[in-house]
Amino acid sequence: MGARRLASIYMVVAVAWLLFSDATLLMLGFSAEQIATYSFLKGVGFVAVTGAALYALVGRFAARTLAREREYRDLFDSNPNPMWVYDLETLGFLAVNDAAVARYGYSREEFLSMRISDIRPEEDVGRLLASVEAVRDGAIGGIDLAGLWRHQTKQGELRWVEITSHVTRFDGRRGELVLARDVTEAIDAREELLRYQQGLEALIADRTSELQDANARLTAATEAKSAFLATMSHELRTPLHSIIGFTSLLADGRSGPLDEEQRMQIGIVRDAGRHLLALINDVLDLSRIEAGRDEIESGPVKIAEIVSSVERTMAPLAVAKGLAWSAGGPAEPDLEIVTDRRRLEQIITNLAGNAVKYTRTGSVDLTVTVSEGEARFAVTDTGPGIEPEQREAIFREFVRLEGDDPVPIEGTGLGLAISARLARLLGGRIEMESTPGEGSTFAVVVPVGGPASDGLTV
Ligand code: ADP
Repeated sequence: MGARRLASIYMVVAVAWLLFSDATLLMLGFSAEQIATYSFLKGVGFVAVTGAALYALVGRFAARTLAREREYRDLFDSNPNPMWVYDLETLGFLAVNDAAVARYGYSREEFLSMRISDIRPEEDVGRLLASVEAVRDGAIGGIDLAGLWRHQTKQGELRWVEITSHVTRFDGRRGELVLARDVTEAIDAREELLRYQQGLEALIADRTSELQDANARLTAATEAKSAFLATMSHELRTPLHSIIGFTSLLADGRSGPLDEEQRMQIGIVRDAGRHLLALINDVLDLSRIEAGRDEIESGPVKIAEIVSSVERTMAPLAVAKGLAWSAGGPAEPDLEIVTDRRRLEQIITNLAGNAVKYTRTGSVDLTVTVSEGEARFAVTDTGPGIEPEQREAIFREFVRLEGDDPVPIEGTGLGLAISARLARLLGGRIEMESTPGEGSTFAVVVPVGGPASDGLTV
């Protein structure tokens, strides 16, 4: 019955009560006897209506309370995580949900006859009791994130669980409502990851130590190679100088006249000696740079001085070969750069030497430009040029291209490799442009402020 309907019935009864009050009935001329009967009937009617209304109300209230209790019970029972309530005094289970029964292997009856310490491995019980002791004093409703625990199933299997609980009142007793979330898989996965990580670290440590060993062996080998080359170069260069010196004397006829054939043969010996000496010098240079023994000595130097120094060596060679030589610096004659002058000149001389060596007719030009903190010394020739597919190879050690020259051109195949390394030491690089059949431009580009900077000093 609706509350509104109950109220209207009650109102009708109240109105009737007033209308048929003793005073009204007296006024209407009823006798005292009749009034007494009416009063009795009115009393019975009122008690009956009030009783019925009360009955309906209490019934509804009870039904609602029951339904709500069932809902809460369902929340507890059907929670996918194991849940239970235990008595904070006796530590006995007071209620467990279906998930707890399913996961821990105990029946509900078994659970209700056990204490919470029965689902712990023995070594954890001390910690459990201490934690219960702390909870016992807590206020009702206080949430306790008790963290990670190990629980033991009926089959003896240990599971990692994360516990959330709070103090509650259950069946008139102080209890703790517990929710246990099984995190065993996550923990296993984390441990697996940790093991993997440790394995990886061990592997890296192994590889690092192997690499260090290899590095040490390599350093020792490089040092041995350098020592060998230093010794050998001395051992080789001394007799070579004698060979070149004495064959030159012989070839010049200073030790007595030679016939044509003898002069030609002695000339071959002398040229072979010179070639060998150049080769030894280049190999030594390269190995010194590789071993990091080549110290760079930077200082300010005028671009014009570098140009004229290279010109002094190269112009006569070019002219002797019938080539036009020209050299030009940037507009300001006093422009200075900070660099290792000896090394830079070695590179430019090598590039210009190649240009003269490989160009049969035409010209060789050395030009210098300065822009954006870099100085560019470019040697342009009208030589045979270099095919695109060979442009990388010529910078490798001992790589020489097959030319179509009738007389093979002397060389060691080390000049460009050395120049590229030296350019890097100076903080710069070698650039190359070439058109086969028309000529090439080889340029060394260095920072004007020295190897470690690119500022401009004038
Ligand atoms: P080398 O000149 O002693 O052979 P390099 O390392 O200086 O050694 O040069 C490698 C090769 O690159 C040369 O053998 C030559 O074939 C080619 N080369 C270098 N400079 C030029 C140039 N200016 N024009 C054409 N070919 C060149």
